[in-house]
Amino acid sequence: MNLKEMDLQYVLHTYARNYVNFKYGKNATLFDEENKDYIDFTSGIGVVSVGHGNKRLADAICDQAKKIIHISNLYLIEPQALLAKRLVELSGYDMRLFFANSGAEANEGAIKIARKYGEVDDEIKRYKIITLKHSFHGRTITALKATGQEAMHTYFGPFPDGFVYAENLEQIPSLIDEKTVAVMIELIQGEGGVEPQDKVAVQELAKFLKQKDILLIVDEVQTGIYRTGELLASNLYEIEPDIITLAKGLGGGVPIGAVMTRLKDIFKPGDHGSTFGGNYLSTRAALEVVNMLEEYKASGKLDQKMIYFEEKLKEIAKGFGDIFVKEVGIGFMRGLRAKSSKLQSQIINKAFDKRVLILKAGRNTVRFLPPLTITKEEIDEGIERFKEALVELTS
Ligand SMILES: *Cc1c(COP(=O)(O)O)cnc(C)c1O
Repeated sequence: MNLKEMDLQYVLHTYARNYVNFKYGKNATLFDEENKDYIDFTSGIGVVSVGHGNKRLADAICDQAKKIIHISNLYLIEPQALLAKRLVELSGYDMRLFFANSGAEANEGAIKIARKYGEVDDEIKRYKIITLKHSFHGRTITALKATGQEAMHTYFGPFPDGFVYAENLEQIPSLIDEKTVAVMIELIQGEGGVEPQDKVAVQELAKFLKQKDILLIVDEVQTGIYRTGELLASNLYEIEPDIITLAKGLGGGVPIGAVMTRLKDIFKPGDHGSTFGGNYLSTRAALEVVNMLEEYKASGKLDQKMIYFEEKLKEIAKGFGDIFVKEVGIGFMRGLRAKSSKLQSQIINKAFDKRVLILKAGRNTVRFLPPLTITKEEIDEGIERFKEALVELTS
């Protein structure tokens, strides 16, 4: 039985997997079992923010693993406290954090905070949360219901009550009633097609919600940790959310999620918890990732690379106007909108043949989430291969 057969035999078929067997990686380059190189414009769906085989991260993980991996949240966890302090200081927001293990879990924490906020004198006064069509908030039953894509609610019901979907930001005020406690949005919809929200519209919404005492939850699971060029997309949009969630890029591949909130005393001991969340290993890894990226940002290199990458994609959108409608995104969260879903799949498959990895997203988008530390040479090589794929597809 080969590996592919083994996978098909023993692993549940939740993904339409590609059966390449990667053996190791170096920054934005992966090598398969025949030592063929692939340019990775996916970073494991926005996770491997400091690249593959990052020595500084690996050393931090090894060092921590030899001392303590896990001890439980019943005792002080040094790297957890350090990471929380670092994130609060870098964000500029007066908040506290809770650490979980994934994006969906971070969002569950955010929803629990909002629902507790809606309780007054132990009575549920407000519980409704407005989210957006095309949003994505995760795969647990509640996060799935928060996700405003009806196609994803076909099975698994009954779902928890209290989620209301808005077509767009402008529609949100008209959906508010006396039971509304929060609005939850992504500033750039990732899975929904790398769709940035308008900055002024977001700022106006934030102001409006503050007046109404309705919480603003920003799901930064994909946009957070320098993906857009700032620590948080909320910094870029110059807003002050009540609750922010993080996950993907935070641990550089080590599973970690976080919910941060200005409601510093919303939870009392026993209200929320996690066995694994915030353990020594994941918080030590995340601390190293955040420190590395902060230095990288301060050096000016992050912005340089982002601008360079954007130029390359804009050229492609122009040069291949018969396939693409437009170029979208911010920072290292970018997409090219294909003219059809059929084209979208063909582009991704053809790119794979040329050994460049890219992602699918909604609205027929071909999505690029490279490691934030990608080199200029890796960008050039990946773009060259991608162009070859497009030429073959159009000839
Ligand atoms: C990926 C993602 C999630 C879900 O994260 P998991 O770690 O897979 O649970 C939630 N929200 C957004 C915006 C995401 O991109």
